[in-house]
Amino acid sequence: MKTYCIALVPGDGIGKEVIPAGQRILDALTSAEPSLHFRFEHFDWGGDYYRRHGVMMPSEGLDALRKHDAILFGSAGDPNIPDHITLWGLRLKICQGLDQYANIRPTRILPGIDTPLKHCKPEDLNWMIVRENTEGEYSGVGGRTHQGHPLEVATDLSVMTRAGVERILRFAFRLAQARPRKLLTVITKSNAQRHAMVMWDEIAAQVAAEFPEVHWDKELVDAATARMVNRPASLDTIVATNLHADILSDLAAALAGSLGIAPTANLNPERVYPSMFEPIHGSAFDIMGKGLANPIGTFWSIVLMLEHLGETSAAHRLMLAIEHVTANPRLHTRDLGGNATTPDVTEAMCALLTARTHRIHA
Ligand code: ATP
Repeated sequence: MKTYCIALVPGDGIGKEVIPAGQRILDALTSAEPSLHFRFEHFDWGGDYYRRHGVMMPSEGLDALRKHDAILFGSAGDPNIPDHITLWGLRLKICQGLDQYANIRPTRILPGIDTPLKHCKPEDLNWMIVRENTEGEYSGVGGRTHQGHPLEVATDLSVMTRAGVERILRFAFRLAQARPRKLLTVITKSNAQRHAMVMWDEIAAQVAAEFPEVHWDKELVDAATARMVNRPASLDTIVATNLHADILSDLAAALAGSLGIAPTANLNPERVYPSMFEPIHGSAFDIMGKGLANPIGTFWSIVLMLEHLGETSAAHRLMLAIEHVTANPRLHTRDLGGNATTPDVTEAMCALLTARTHRIHA
């Protein structure tokens, strides 16, 4: 029997609702697949921890996470704490500290979910967005001086290293090669950003030579937004810098039906450190504590976690159950136009997972 140690970090807002729901799902999977076992450790880091200790997570927190096989994360954000403190003090600290440099965001229109795109068939939108996750616009380099004075100055420097760009582009080409269409779009802005993005383009062409089977093209980030809306089927795997991919993937999530469905994985592909899995959405304080949070983004993130752990049959079983649930409008939460609650969706998922396999296929 394989036992995986999972670190649970619910964080803030609806993270405190969707992560316990995720734990329920993992427990249900274990009862259905006796060869699989999970041990959980809870970490109460986030806004409340900050109010008590003055930091979002303790300094030895990364050491504690390193001992786990994977991390399941909720969200970081608090209406009473500046966003740059919650983001840098928790999520980015973990991503950068554990060198989770490849962030992947699968996007598809699940059964029963409507897209706001009028002429888009579900099969037209099946993307894998790859986000550079440790440097670029989020490198944290910059400063602020003469605050409050007329000559106040502030900078945020986007730092790109050859090693960092090479490894994310190679990761994206490899991923594109493994997908049926073998199609990669490299997002750029080298017309305006004439140093780092030009290097990014050059490295893309160099790495492309290693992957002759992959058809690839280049698209400016502004043009990419229009292409996602007007010609979704022309895209498959998409790779972009930290900030560009952040924006494009929120658009992708909205086009696929709701921010509440979208999953993401922060991967350390070499597996030196544990990887982290989380729904794309943030803390959503407006709906917190009301049972309105759609937990599907968390459940789909667990699918990515199981795939990363090599548990492909459990991952497949869970994805089938998710698609079964999204296909039923009575199990749609408010973001999808329905009345179901977080517990309704979670219990329906658990019932499917603990039922015999043929019921899921039915
Ligand atoms: P943060 O500052 O932490 O990024 P936010 O509230 O600004 O959080 P999101 O949490 O990403 O941003 O969400 C934007 C809106 O989308 C929310 O206000 C909420 O109404 C809706 N939303 C997000 N996630 C979900 C979800 N899982 N279920 C239902 N609605 C959601």
